[in-house]
Amino acid sequence: MSYLDIDHVSITFPTDKGPLNVLNDVYLNVEKGEFVSLIGHSGCGKSTVLNIVAGLLRATEGGVVLEAKEVDEPGPDRAVVFQNHSLLPWLSVYDNVRLAVDRVFKKTMSKAERDAWTRHNLELVHMDHALDRRPDEISGGMKQRVGIARALAMQPKVLLMDEPFGALDSLTRTHMQDSLMEIQSQLNNTVIMITHDVDEAVLLSDRIVMMTNGPSATIGEILHIDLPRPRDRLELAEDPTYNHYRAEVVKFLHERHERPKAKSSPVIRSSVDDEDAEPSPRKLRVAV
Ligand code: ADP
Ligand code: MG
Repeated sequence: MSYLDIDHVSITFPTDKGPLNVLNDVYLNVEKGEFVSLIGHSGCGKSTVLNIVAGLLRATEGGVVLEAKEVDEPGPDRAVVFQNHSLLPWLSVYDNVRLAVDRVFKKTMSKAERDAWTRHNLELVHMDHALDRRPDEISGGMKQRVGIARALAMQPKVLLMDEPFGALDSLTRTHMQDSLMEIQSQLNNTVIMITHDVDEAVLLSDRIVMMTNGPSATIGEILHIDLPRPRDRLELAEDPTYNHYRAEVVKFLHERHERPKAKSSPVIRSSVDDEDAEPSPRKLRVAV
């Protein structure tokens, strides 16, 4: 048994048109300290996988086991960072993190320790200069940094991230990726991150889990990213191994799991367009 087992998970939702089998037999073992990315077309079921691990949804069959304990409800041992920040608008940056720290460590840390721990986590994400600002007074990237600080401050066993940088401009996104790699080198968290950015997946991950198209989506392929750390995006842009991994992911998304055109719904089509945009020069311009 590994640290985190996603154990033959299937889920079927009741819908107006009858039962919809979204995930079919998703099976994944994650080791402690491993960084795993989930990639796949929009609507295939990535968020559903994450929500089952978070305890926000119950699998119809199978389940999730974390450190030998079955997951059956949400908990601070599985902190989630969403694409759109979920900070409380009336609280300062500091108080947004402090609230989570108080909730988790009220009994185990003194007031002074909780204050220091809150500040420490905001330093980790380089937000200690803006402790008193409110969410509407800081940029989108900064809000995501605070959301990450809040999640890290809970000392989760698993950090779950659902397209955490997906709403950010590409330059901010590269800064966030570098920050996350830096934090990860210090903390060695166990992370499952959903992304639709191929470079992000290769740069950050130990393994990339590629999901097939839904309905009845499952894991199609798993790619081990055997690149030494720390990883430098500028050096890797020219690295044949890096580019090989990158091409493997692009190939998986384009060739083997392209949806039949006639069946594409508007939602799925727009996502395929997104994926088409991945290898565009926009990314390279940022990288170089
Ligand atoms: P992804 O994150 O890969 O874009 P999701 O996990 O959000 O995909 O959704 C996968 C599929 O499951 C979609 O077709 C979505 O409409 C469907 N779905 C998700 N949650 C529910 C629900 N509560 N009831 C019915 N269908 C759902
Ligand atoms: Mg999603």
